[in-house]
Amino acid sequence: MATYFNENTILFYDGQMMRATEAHTNLYGQTLHYGYGAFEGIRSYDTDHGPRIFKAREHYERLIRSCELLGIPFAYSVEEMTQISYKVLESNGFSDAYLRPLVICDPSMTLINGQSTRLVIAAWEWGAYLGEKLLSLKISPYCRPHPRSVHMEAKAVGHYVNSILASSDARKGGYDEALLLDCDGYLAEGPGANLFFEKDGKLYTPAQGHILPGITRATVFEMCRELGVSVEEGRYTAEDLFEADSAFFCGTGAEIIGIKAIDHKEFKQAWTDSIGSKLRQMYLLLVREKTTQPVSIDA
Ligand code: PMP
Repeated sequence: MATYFNENTILFYDGQMMRATEAHTNLYGQTLHYGYGAFEGIRSYDTDHGPRIFKAREHYERLIRSCELLGIPFAYSVEEMTQISYKVLESNGFSDAYLRPLVICDPSMTLINGQSTRLVIAAWEWGAYLGEKLLSLKISPYCRPHPRSVHMEAKAVGHYVNSILASSDARKGGYDEALLLDCDGYLAEGPGANLFFEKDGKLYTPAQGHILPGITRATVFEMCRELGVSVEEGRYTAEDLFEADSAFFCGTGAEIIGIKAIDHKEFKQAWTDSIGSKLRQMYLLLVREKTTQPVSIDA
């Protein structure tokens, strides 16, 4: 069994810092029983100025927005949560770490939205979620949830049942990860990352509506603007992807990671020659606040 804490681990729970071994939760809440809760996945990086949380504001604004969309009462401000996050990192002596804020609803076995919640902010040291090697993906038999069934732009706990089904199915088939289509059969995203593909020197990514609009995805847009690479959002099919030159996943946990093959069909272009590979290098410098060297794009 994976361990994310030991007897010395400190986390923030229910208004105070405490040992992870002493944190307890009530077993009669809607988050545990029904998946009704919201969370975030954030990274901090070791920089020359000490540990820095990458895009803390954007992540905590999304957590507040997720709660609003779900009707979950929540009172912490972005500033408070950012401060607490730095305290959690400091208490554990972490620099390069993954932060996991989670909003847990108080006991209620009804199906009516709760009246009060508790915030957890835990941290652990976690390498790149999908590893460092190029990925072999399976187009999943599971589609992303219908946007009229749930709020797809919220990072809701229960949405990850769909992600776990898709990832586990891909792993069982010998693939590294799944790629999910939306309910209309267009490309959507990975179980925990957004998709981009490159064709003739341009990038393409599924439009908002059926995906979690990732903070790393937004960072890719920013980096592309800086590099003069054009990015188009739209509705694309698996055939568009099969005809692409290269592709990558991006997310806080996964960072930017190249894709080798989809359903065993390999991309023609060498990953090292792709725009994605340049963006990956740039991203890894950006999050560590290293001055980004100008990266030439000759595509
Ligand atoms: N899609 C899904 C389903 C995710 O879980 C994540 C990870 N939060 C992403 C995309 C990427 O989002 P971000 O870049 O904000 O981490």
